[in-house]
Amino acid sequence: MKTKRKTDKVNIVTLGCSKNIVDSEELYSQLKANKFEVEHESIKDDANIVVINTCGFIDNAKQESIDTILRFAEAKKVGEIDKLYVTGCLSQRYMPDLQKEIPDVDKYFGTTHLPQLLKTLGADYKHELIGERLITTPSHYAYVKISEGCDRPCSFCAIPIMRGNHVSKSIEQLVTEAKGLVKKGTKEILLIAQDSTYYGLDIYGERKLAELLNRLSDVDGLEWIRLHYAFPSQFPMEVLDVMQSKSNICKYIDIPLQHTSDNMLKAMRRGITSARTQEVVDKIREKVPEIAIRTTLIAGHPGETEKDFEDLCKFVKYNRFDRLGIFTYSHEEGTHSGTMIDDVPQEEKERRAAVVMDIQQRISSELNQKKVGKTFKVLFDRKDSGYFVGRTEFDSPEVDNEVLVDAKNNYIRIGDFAQVKITSAEDFDLYGSVLS
Ligand code: SF4
Repeated sequence: MKTKRKTDKVNIVTLGCSKNIVDSEELYSQLKANKFEVEHESIKDDANIVVINTCGFIDNAKQESIDTILRFAEAKKVGEIDKLYVTGCLSQRYMPDLQKEIPDVDKYFGTTHLPQLLKTLGADYKHELIGERLITTPSHYAYVKISEGCDRPCSFCAIPIMRGNHVSKSIEQLVTEAKGLVKKGTKEILLIAQDSTYYGLDIYGERKLAELLNRLSDVDGLEWIRLHYAFPSQFPMEVLDVMQSKSNICKYIDIPLQHTSDNMLKAMRRGITSARTQEVVDKIREKVPEIAIRTTLIAGHPGETEKDFEDLCKFVKYNRFDRLGIFTYSHEEGTHSGTMIDDVPQEEKERRAAVVMDIQQRISSELNQKKVGKTFKVLFDRKDSGYFVGRTEFDSPEVDNEVLVDAKNNYIRIGDFAQVKITSAEDFDLYGSVLS
């Protein structure tokens, strides 16, 4: 039996996406400001209060969240922790079921219940902290959530159920947030949202992503600004002009396309056609020639025919995306697709996803070979297994490719940039040496 702590200590556990990381960082910052002892993802296991920030996106993510809750519920049963609280998307979406199924949790909270959670922990919600977030990522890069929620009707997606409608933060607030992060050593910010291209429509009555990028690029000390979660339909092309004209905006865009056949784009209610999707990709490359495009696709959505899948493979082969991920469709109750017949068998979903990743692996390998002999500006994130590991402006943390530099012959401070000459390439990662 562990000795009882005299003072409370909170351990915050984050599951899911970068937007959840930002939410956990806001909770962390609020507790610190309330003079709480708090850690994020503590490995010391010495906290007596645990807050789990869950993910409720698709099957695998939901299962991971449930397993984590059960693990800490067990720890509570055997007296290893005193209090267990659960927040985030799974809790927002399934609160009544969770309260019934896992009653050992002291209290469940929704995605917008930070003040209530703080009150339950005995802390006050400090408004003045807005924009003063402590980050849990390596100090040289930080996620900046430019809006919450989503107004899109995508058939397969449960996010609007968990995150509500689209709410943008003001440009002023985001510029203040960016300045605050730079003061604490951040050099790269990653702009995240459910749909970043919708930015401003709610509070300014027009799309303001281009203006936001412009304003952020004027923040001294910000070396890289990276754009994630763009939406193809009604894509604001002026964003590309700003990206091309500003050296500290990464020539990088993450634009989940999900599919390409008209049949599937219609069933998915993506509000765009196959032809228009191709036009958007072509325009992005025309306006920012050296851009790296990351996209995400879904295999096995209800009604996906062999022909639809062939079209998807042709599209991936033709467009040679720099970075690509693919999910197998997850049948989510409460979504429009959830009312359809899930007619593509699971193994066939997985086979199709594997076929697409094989195509992508070959493309990535060919694109990487062309980088051998070239020099890139690299931001170093960590030291790992005898290598300094970093990224070019064409790579986002956690999801994209990396550059490995042998630590025996080179010395680099983590969080620093360095010019690296690429000496060899693998399917995804690159190897190189630092140019002095
Ligand atoms: S844009 Fe579509 S897929 Fe993305 S969060 Fe909104 S509804 Fe979901």
